[in-house]
Amino acid sequence: MTQTYDAIIIGAGVMGASLAFHLAERGLKTAILERRVSAAGATGHSSGLVRMHYDLAAESELTFVSYKNYFRDWKERVGGDCGFINTGFLQIAKREHEHKLRGNVANQQQIGINTSIISAAEVKELFPDFITDHFDYAAYEPDSGYADPTLTTNSFLEAAKRNGAALIQNCEVTAINTSGGRATGVSTTRGDFAAPVVINAAGAWAKQVASLADIDVPLETWTHDVAFLHRPPSLGRIPAVIDDVINCYFRPEGSALILAAGEDESLRGEPPDAEDQTPTDTFLEKLIDNMVQRIPKIEESGLHSIHVGRDGITPDQRAIYGSSGIDGFYLACGLSGTGFKTSPAAGASLVELILDGAPKTVDITPFRFERFAEGKLIEGEYGYGHLWK
Ligand SMILES: Cc1cc2nc3c(=O)[nH]c(=O)nc-3n(C[C@H](O)[C@H](O)[C@H](O)COP(=O)(O)OP(=O)(O)OC[C@H]3O[C@@H](n4cnc5c(N)ncnc54)[C@H](O)[C@@H]3O)c2cc1C
Repeated sequence: MTQTYDAIIIGAGVMGASLAFHLAERGLKTAILERRVSAAGATGHSSGLVRMHYDLAAESELTFVSYKNYFRDWKERVGGDCGFINTGFLQIAKREHEHKLRGNVANQQQIGINTSIISAAEVKELFPDFITDHFDYAAYEPDSGYADPTLTTNSFLEAAKRNGAALIQNCEVTAINTSGGRATGVSTTRGDFAAPVVINAAGAWAKQVASLADIDVPLETWTHDVAFLHRPPSLGRIPAVIDDVINCYFRPEGSALILAAGEDESLRGEPPDAEDQTPTDTFLEKLIDNMVQRIPKIEESGLHSIHVGRDGITPDQRAIYGSSGIDGFYLACGLSGTGFKTSPAAGASLVELILDGAPKTVDITPFRFERFAEGKLIEGEYGYGHLWK
């Protein structure tokens, strides 16, 4: 027997969970269909950085609104916990990018973000264990940090369920059903579901899911290795950092560990279901070689563990939010290895676009799907080039 809903979300990662939260809050009878379990995809492997520095104002705004309306006061806004820890955030820029760093920080300050340019000497004062010889300036965000992506997803889902949403796990969508050119629902391994709104939030699988409706989304998979290192006992305070000079990002993980990963070496185009717990051969050696250039005490740390995650990435490394071209079938995918921190505001904005005809929370129209067919890929106002090399 067909089950009938007002809206169906395909995928219970953080994006699907945010969409479910916002749809259910608006009173829609919502089903989230997940082929495995919640947070089984990219979300469960995410590094969870919540920083606001981007080279595109629309992305900075998505993170800022996600921070101030959600992560900072999660319990009041959503209920439950998102595990947000305020560590501060540093964006370390290459010398030749100084004018871009300044331009981006000026844009972010206009949005209302608490960020400023600080000199290498000021970085050293704040974080004395850092070597600061090979850059002149960084952007510093005292309010940023990291959160727990699985906790975030599950508390969005719990809140959605309190508003009547159904989370149906071990339920793989196998067909998108249409009639007269509009979406009418989906077929799954657990039967048929009807709804006038269907949203593809299937992460690394979103290309396959879109193809069920004969839509070709320019997505490939991006496979990313992440290490947890034991924190050297003598290491002082460190913030969350994206370091474009040594091509790494890192942050504390509680008091005993450091999470660290590279900006390059991520594999592209692996099948979404490929075995995903084997890092590349050179990952760890390269990571440590790079990190000791910034923090020599990393030599004293040991490896705790390595994990591997996989997201969908688009040609301009920016998300796709909006209509698929088929009435009633929407895309919330291609989050390109940076979509955790933006998911609360992106979910709110896409729900407004679907229900009200236009987004109010943040203008997500730059992320429309049509940009690829039009050859108008997104470029940052003060673009650094692709984050993932
Ligand atoms: C290792 C790693 C580190 C990252 N670090 C950060 C970070 O520090 N900060 C940040 O902001 N972002 C980060 N990201 C990116 C961010 O985590 C992702 O963009 C985000 O989690 C994607 O969420 P999602 O819901 O779109 O996809 P996913 O979490 O992948 O969820 C998609 C879900 O869809 C389900 N699904 C697939 N096909 C079907 C089907 N046919 N039927 C039903 N269900 C289906 C899958 O099982 C999966 O659970 C990182 C990503 C990775 C991989």
